[in-house]
Amino acid sequence: MGQFDKNSELMDHFLHPRNVGKLDNPDAIGKVGNITCGDIMEIYLKVENNIIKNIKFQTFGCAAAIASTSVLTELVKGKTLEEALKISSKRIREILGEMPPHKYHCTVLAEQALKDAIENYQKKSEKK
Ligand SMILES: [Zn+2]
Repeated sequence: MGQFDKNSELMDHFLHPRNVGKLDNPDAIGKVGNITCGDIMEIYLKVENNIIKNIKFQTFGCAAAIASTSVLTELVKGKTLEEALKISSKRIREILGEMPPHKYHCTVLAEQALKDAIENYQKKSEKK
């Protein structure tokens, strides 16, 4: 972990990730992976009246990937799907603080996992 500042938000979210786990009967699941770090992210959503009521995640991967997903879940909980889609990896990086540029893609992956989950939700609700 030498490449990250010990006192950063990144380390805090990595060591104490928020909203970790699975949801029973989620309304949508998002799943993405990246071969560079071997990061795999799964996001579970509960949506009610277009609002993200609950979100949990499981990330198998590097510290930046785990911290990114943790921050993401805090950002989108309680937001509408439209608001949640506007949250970018840049915003996640602003919160996490300094990180080496070769780790930026881990924050992008968190953004993609959420988008995947929301797309999954929208496809499902179209079918109903
Ligand atoms: Zn990574």
